Amino acid sequence: MKLSELYTKTSKSIPADESSNNARLLIQAGFIHKEMAGVYSYLPLGKIVLDKISQIIREEMNRIRALEVQMSTLQPKDIWEKTDRWDDKKVDNWFKTKLNSGQDLGIGLTHEEPIVDSMIGFINSYKDLPVYVYQIQNKFRNELRAKSGLLRGREFLMKDLYSFNLNEEEHHRYYEEVLGAYFKIYERLGLGKDTYRTYADGGIFSTSFSDEFQTLSDVGEDLIYLDEKKKIAINKEIYNAKNLNKIGLKESDLKPYKAIEVGNTFSLGSKYTDALDLYYTDKDGHQKSIIMGCYGIGVSRLMGVMAEKFSDNLGLVWPMTIAPAKIYLIAIGQDQKTLDKAQKLYNLLTQKSIDVIYDDRDVRIGEKFADADLLGVPIRAVISSKHGDQEIAVKRRTENNEKMMKYIDLINLSK
Ligand code: ATP
Ligand code: MG
Repeated sequence: MKLSELYTKTSKSIPADESSNNARLLIQAGFIHKEMAGVYSYLPLGKIVLDKISQIIREEMNRIRALEVQMSTLQPKDIWEKTDRWDDKKVDNWFKTKLNSGQDLGIGLTHEEPIVDSMIGFINSYKDLPVYVYQIQNKFRNELRAKSGLLRGREFLMKDLYSFNLNEEEHHRYYEEVLGAYFKIYERLGLGKDTYRTYADGGIFSTSFSDEFQTLSDVGEDLIYLDEKKKIAINKEIYNAKNLNKIGLKESDLKPYKAIEVGNTFSLGSKYTDALDLYYTDKDGHQKSIIMGCYGIGVSRLMGVMAEKFSDNLGLVWPMTIAPAKIYLIAIGQDQKTLDKAQKLYNLLTQKSIDVIYDDRDVRIGEKFADADLLGVPIRAVISSKHGDQEIAVKRRTENNEKMMKYIDLINLSK
């Protein structure tokens, strides 16, 4: 990408109507556009980052044999009435609307009901199980407070996976596989060492424990108690002597931390499948209940978490895996020879499929350096007439010193 072709611009001033650090930075860098409180659009650079996060999640979901679908956002009322989740007294953050005919519609805040409904006709016999499906799709929730930028949106991107198994035992085996996939995802996003499996309330979904994945952060809304040796935590919501005992945690081993919920997994039993009349017939011809699980990850929230955690006073500091580009290329000097050199290197990197942002704008060099930092591209590469042939000054976003290196070393660094 050439910056002269990018329509978004960075801004020097902090957006006045934004109190969260993640949204401020992302707006200043031109990654997102605020439509209203809790509602953001993704601009070209932001879309690249969001897609890279989604792709990591997609790869790990595919690895555990889940199939990708895309469910609709508009929802008929009747399926939600069958599980008693239509009533605003039961679920208070629904966005709802009506057809011209007056018929009620819901705007999807989660998808257990429609997913189960979509299985009718496909799951009949024990031979049709297990089934694992997921989607990466926008959810809508009328959140009371939406002051945390991407951390709490009224419209936000979620990955939701649903499992359908023959019995509890098969369900639990798959559930553990999903937890393994979740750890891999956070690891690949660079959040591995700060993200913990956390025992939590079953919430609106069930009465037993659910597992949350909590990333430590001072801006987190949740309070968790962490056992640093066991690398397991318990949410304050269910912190009491009885539960500690059940889980096998000791009060003296626990330390409180603020954290952000980046994922949540639930065992649902047959609550939804029974209510929506989805059963299977076993080998002996008996009708049996289907055991279900659901597993969420906040995709856009993760982008906010990463902007919070991977940033400094100069701007964003993306890890290689999700940065909008790996290299930010700058030419010092507007003489033809230097410009030709920069263009050649740009072509070479593009040929090798190494994402590069070439700052070919006619602006002061100081402005280019400042934008390289604000955008948070991991490697800055500077071409100058003073350098030898095939030589380039390279600086990592996380380091202070430039190093001279050959093109081939730059290419290796970007892999
Ligand atoms: P919270 O307790 O933060 O309101 P939740 O428990 O209601 O979240 P789930 O229904 O478990 O959320 O959704 C799955 C995941 O989606 C969460 O773990 C979180 O990462 C993300 N998520 C939930 N609500 C939002 C939101 N309003 N904005 C952005 N991400 C969200
Ligand atoms: Mg949750």
